Amino acid sequence: MSHTAELIAVGTELLLGNIANTNAQVISQSLSALGINVFWHTVVGDNPKRLKEALDIARRRADIIITTGGLGPTYDDLTKQTICAAFGKPLILHPDILENIRAFYEAALHVPMPENNIQQAELPEGCAVFDNPVGTAPGCAFECGGIHVLMLPGPPHEMETMLRRHVEPYLRKLSHEVIVSLDIMTFGMGESSVEELLHEKMALMTNPTLATYAKPCEVRLRATAKAATEAEARSMLFPVRDMVYETLGDVVYGVDVADLAESCHAQLIRRKMTLATAESCTGGLVAEKLTAIPGASAVYRGGVVSYWTSVKADVLHVNQSILDTYGPVSKECARAMAEGVRKITGADIGVSVTGAAGPDPDERGTPVGIVHVGLATPEGTFCRSLDMGRRRRDRIQGLAANHAFDVVRRYLQGLPIEQV
Ligand code: ATP
Ligand code: MG
Repeated sequence: MSHTAELIAVGTELLLGNIANTNAQVISQSLSALGINVFWHTVVGDNPKRLKEALDIARRRADIIITTGGLGPTYDDLTKQTICAAFGKPLILHPDILENIRAFYEAALHVPMPENNIQQAELPEGCAVFDNPVGTAPGCAFECGGIHVLMLPGPPHEMETMLRRHVEPYLRKLSHEVIVSLDIMTFGMGESSVEELLHEKMALMTNPTLATYAKPCEVRLRATAKAATEAEARSMLFPVRDMVYETLGDVVYGVDVADLAESCHAQLIRRKMTLATAESCTGGLVAEKLTAIPGASAVYRGGVVSYWTSVKADVLHVNQSILDTYGPVSKECARAMAEGVRKITGADIGVSVTGAAGPDPDERGTPVGIVHVGLATPEGTFCRSLDMGRRRRDRIQGLAANHAFDVVRRYLQGLPIEQV
């Protein structure tokens, strides 16, 4: 039997727009991976009457209700009391939890516990307790008339710690099925082309299923299987992965990798090769994405943000005649930048980006969206030229950075480099 969940976020700050309901996003992602349907997100202020109304609605249409927020010690934290009243559960004081909270105050915060916090140690009768190693308010879950009610604290890192430690195992026990997913990552083909190629097959699939999630130029395909055991679910996914590889070809750059930067990093490590970057219109974005990966120093030598033409000439040794004849946004300059940074850093591979990110054309009249990505390797120098059109500046920069990673990964995989 599949379960249906409703998330109720409690907090007036959410309704006022002071904060975004990121808890709902994180919990929804987790429930979807567990195969639990989430049909409603509700947000309600710190108001017991309206919370009670939201609970009355939720219990009619969902069999799992998860609340976040309002478990703290202050007068506006009323979630637990309101839920207990609605479901007819008395609150019971747990002396051991009270001691934990008192210890947390003394050891972590170095202050005595305020008396208000006593109510955080009161929990619904017969509930499962979710301890909170990174805060004070414990969470809890109980079952009442076939409905599971789970209460989590509002602060996102407390909520998420509890979600992973307690909520996911609790919910997994409610289901006799295991859900396993894998993400097949593609770059270089638009969502509509991907769907056109896969549409007929996707429409016929029920278990496993295949869904697409798109960003510009990048499509993530998530294959999901349900089975009695993890091994069985996993084995159902391999033929889907192979079918996608066969249908889409070399736009697939990896399975279960986060992004192109991570895929490049892994392949550079495998090939024991080093990389350097020369960036103009991306202003260091390629370097930033790469250095965000732990262990980047094993493969990344360094980079130059050569924003001014004089830096392209003086630091990267781009020939002045190239700059005069073709300009800084040109294939010739991209190639020379990649070769220059490869030479000055001694890296195996140099990658470069130069382009017009807008919003206005550059001083030579290069239209917005023209980007050249250069790649200097032991086998020679390549260039991929792109016309991204009049997109937003940050989109052009993000896409250009991804193209830089894509030329590197295609080189490392022995694929044609210059075409997208
Ligand atoms: P505390 O013990 O800190 O009072 P609590 O469980 O009572 O925790 P709230 O008082 O409702 O939680 O919220 C505490 C803080 O957590 C909020 O100020 C906000 O920064 C964050 N928060 C609450 N709910 C959400 C949410 N749904 N999404 C993201 N952040 C949230
Ligand atoms: Mg609070």
